[in-house]
Amino acid sequence: MTHRHRYTTGATTMSAGDPGAESRVLRISDTMTTVDLGMPGLAAPGDPGPLGAPLPGDRPHAPGLIDRFGRTATDLRVSLTDRCNLRCTYCMPAEGLPTLPRDAVMTRAEIVRLVGIATRDLGVRQVRFTGGEPLLRGDLVEIVRDVAALENRPEISLTTNAVGLDHRARDLRAAGLDRVNISLDTLDPDTYARMARRPFLARTLAGIDAAAREFDVVKINAVLVRGLNLDHAADLLSWCLERGFELRFIEQMPLDADHAWDRSAMVTAAEVRAQLGERFDLAPDEEPRDGAPAERFTVSGHGGGPRLGRVGIIASVTEPFCADCRRTRLTAEGAVRACLFAHTESDLLGPLRAGANDATLADLWRTAMWGKWAGHDMAAAGFVQPSRTMSAIGG
Ligand code: SAM
Ligand code: SF4
Repeated sequence: MTHRHRYTTGATTMSAGDPGAESRVLRISDTMTTVDLGMPGLAAPGDPGPLGAPLPGDRPHAPGLIDRFGRTATDLRVSLTDRCNLRCTYCMPAEGLPTLPRDAVMTRAEIVRLVGIATRDLGVRQVRFTGGEPLLRGDLVEIVRDVAALENRPEISLTTNAVGLDHRARDLRAAGLDRVNISLDTLDPDTYARMARRPFLARTLAGIDAAAREFDVVKINAVLVRGLNLDHAADLLSWCLERGFELRFIEQMPLDADHAWDRSAMVTAAEVRAQLGERFDLAPDEEPRDGAPAERFTVSGHGGGPRLGRVGIIASVTEPFCADCRRTRLTAEGAVRACLFAHTESDLLGPLRAGANDATLADLWRTAMWGKWAGHDMAAAGFVQPSRTMSAIGG
C-alpha cells in the first residue's frame, strides 16, 4: 500500500510512501521541533497509518515520538529490573516490594529489540538504563554491548547506587557505556544506613572510585530529606567538586511506597540553593539548558574565589519542566510510560511476545506517547500519586 502523506521537516519534505523517508527524518531530528515537523501539514486523523489501519484518535502520521503538546521524546529510560539491594526511604518500603516473576521481565534480546526500534524508527538518541538497581542484572554488560552495537548507536548511560560497580565498571566501559550517574545522599555512614536502610556506604564509595577511573563523566545524584541529610548538602558538594564530579540535587517526588511524601515538608530547590549559598557562591550556568532537567550553577568560593565546578538542581516539584520533557520510559515489564506520574501504561512486551513486527511495536509506542499529558500537577489539591513507586517505574 502506498501512502502519500507529506511530512515537512524544515529541511526536507518527504512522502510516507518513500522507504527512505523515516531514516531521513530521523537523521535530521537533532534540530526537529514541532515547528520543524510542520504539524499542521501532517495527515488528517483517521487516515490510514503506515500499517494501513486508521490511526487511533487524533494522532497524526509522524515518524518520531511526538505528543499533542508539541514535544518530541528522544531520551529513553529503560528499567532493567524492579529489584534493588537498598531500601531508600523515599523510594521503597523497608520490607521491599513484591518483585515481578522473572519471566515477566524483559530479556536481554527483548530489551535490545525495543531499544533498536526506538533508535532506528522513533528518533531516540539517548538511552539510560535504570531500575530498581540495574547492576542486579547479571547480563548488564551484554545488554550495553548489544545496544552499543546497534546501527543507530545511542548515547548510553546508567543510573545506579554503585554497590558492586567496582567489579563491573571496566567491563561496562569496554562494552560501550558512555556515562554513569551514581546516587549518593550523604558521606556519613550512619545517615547513609538510615536513608538506604542498608549499611553500604563503603561499597557505594568503592563503586564511585571505580567509575571515576573508567569514565570521563561521573554525575552524583542526591535527594535531600529534612531531618536526615539536609545539612550534609554543602559537604557533599565540596567532596564532589574536589573529585571533578557534577552533583545534582533532586527534589523529592511523591513516588515513595509509604505515601509519606508531604509537599510542605519536602526540601525545595530554593532551600538547596540557600544551604549551598552558606558556603559557596552559585551563579546560573551560561550553557543553554537544552531540555535538561537540572538547572545548573557555576560554583565558586565566597567573595569571588576561583571557579570550583558546577552543581545542578532538579526542581521537579517546585519548578516543573514538563513543557520541555523529552522522555519516554520502558518499565522492566516492557510497558511504555509517557510520564513518571502517568496512571496508564501501554504494553509492548505482550505484543512483542505474541509476534508483532517492528512497525507495529513502533506504532504502539507512538500512540502511547501521543497520549502523554501536558504535565503532572503535584502542586494541585487533586494530585493523585501513581500506584507504582520510583523503583518500580525506573527513575
Ligand atoms: N537504583 C538506582 C539508583 O538509585 O541510582 C537507579 C534507580 S533510582 C529509582 C533512580 C534515581 O531516582 C536515584 O537517583 C534516586 O535517588 C531517585 N529517586 C528515587 N526515589 C525518588 C523520589 N521519591 N524522588 C526523587 N528522586 C527519587
Ligand atoms: Fe534502590 Fe535506587 Fe530506589 Fe534506592 S533509589 S531503593 S537504590 S531503586
